[in-house]
Amino acid sequence: MQTRLRPGEETADTPTAHDAALHFIGRIHTPWDSRALCPRQGKPDGPECRIEVFAPWDRALEGIESYSRLEILYWLDRARRDLIRQNPKGDGERFFGTFALRSPQRPNPIGTALVNLERVNGNCLIVRGLDCLNGTPLIDIKPDRCEFTPKAPDKPGVTS
Ligand code: SAM
Repeated sequence: MQTRLRPGEETADTPTAHDAALHFIGRIHTPWDSRALCPRQGKPDGPECRIEVFAPWDRALEGIESYSRLEILYWLDRARRDLIRQNPKGDGERFFGTFALRSPQRPNPIGTALVNLERVNGNCLIVRGLDCLNGTPLIDIKPDRCEFTPKAPDKPGVTS
């Protein structure tokens, strides 16, 4: 858990009650055990990472191999959740509101990445393009919207 607050950063009191609940559906295995080594954003030529999908959700991978690009959503479990105003460079000079950043520190620490699917290996997806710490919980997998064509019939009166 990140606890260090930089000078001038602002926090909020975070609520104790929750509005929704998540199920972690898997775990992401990456080469990075520390933030200092973890990239700020994944790159398509980054190292192979393994997305492990837990039962019963491994059965929901059916058909995934037909996509080359996937959108991965993950829970940045070691981020603080109370920052309103952040100083990313730690220089005490330039401040940004949390929603003007892709910082892991946010009220609901959801990370997203578009990754290249290299191969499917049982209940695991081998991908490139991630930027999360080893052991990060997985919350969802979707085909890249550019590659995806809706499978349900068109809706009357709606053109796209
Ligand atoms: N690509 C995602 C996005 O834009 O939503 C995440 C970007 S965030 C800037 C990536 C950084 O978050 C990493 O460099 C690392 O410092 C931090 N990070 C990665 N995994 C984390 C985790 N499980 N908990 C807390 N911080 C994490």
